[in-house]
Amino acid sequence: MTERTEEAVVVLEGVHKTYGTGGSQVAALRGVDLTIRRGEMVAVMGPSGSGKSTLMNILGCLDRPGPGRYLLDGVDVGRLSRDKRADLRNRKLGFIFQDFHLLSRTSALENVEMPMLYHPERISGRELRRRAEEALERVGLADRAGHHPNQLSGGQQQRVAIARALVNRPTFLLADEPTGNLDTRTSLDIMSLFQELNAGGLTVILVTHEPEMSRFCSRVVVLRDGLVERDEPMDSRQSARGLREAFDREHPAGEIQPRPVEAS
Ligand code: ADP
Ligand code: MG
Repeated sequence: MTERTEEAVVVLEGVHKTYGTGGSQVAALRGVDLTIRRGEMVAVMGPSGSGKSTLMNILGCLDRPGPGRYLLDGVDVGRLSRDKRADLRNRKLGFIFQDFHLLSRTSALENVEMPMLYHPERISGRELRRRAEEALERVGLADRAGHHPNQLSGGQQQRVAIARALVNRPTFLLADEPTGNLDTRTSLDIMSLFQELNAGGLTVILVTHEPEMSRFCSRVVVLRDGLVERDEPMDSRQSARGLREAFDREHPAGEIQPRPVEAS
């Protein structure tokens, strides 16, 4: 191994996942091979039902892999107990959802503190607050710490969710359609934030079914029927910030943009 950037964070070998039992089984993943190296920013694409969320849930240790092997930073996830898997998740991973999954009755700051309460090491109240403030600052929301989710825009809520995902200093971020509920302008902002975090060394894996969003990633993996159909580098990777600036010039502030019609 020559450089840190060469390290494999994720290795999947022949990973299967089947839901249900007996006659009503669904084979969601049918032998997925995938290696992701530190510092990559990967878009997972594919039609609805192709297994994208199943893959993310397995990568995120939210669900147990079926037959096959999943190595996360060299640890064989399939061999871990449920508790050990939860520990690994809390230490190594940040997960971001399409609909944010924030607790509605707590402030942005408290939402961000939450994962630290489950961290295997006990963290003092003072340190919790300090780290949560730092994470909110990283996503540009230091001045909204006391706001509740319903006092924030969709894009701001997603930033809180990203801050929450960052607070345990994860090895990688997983985001399942993080811009699926956001308008174009806000989607570009969120992708720009992911690019910044990625430039700072964080590995990012995100699901999108919008080709425009995949262009901000360094690599695209396409699933079909539970298998990797295509896996290639993004040769003409774009800057989301640059596109956002161009978007602003074309569409002056305040103008409402309809979302492009989605393919699937
Ligand atoms: P995608 O995210 O690409 O739309 P999913 O991973 O959600 O695909 O689903 C893959 C397949 O697995 C689909 O056929 C879906 O209906 C099925 N599936 C997903 N989750 C479950 C579940 N909890 N129980 C049964 N079938 C499921
Ligand atoms: Mg899905």
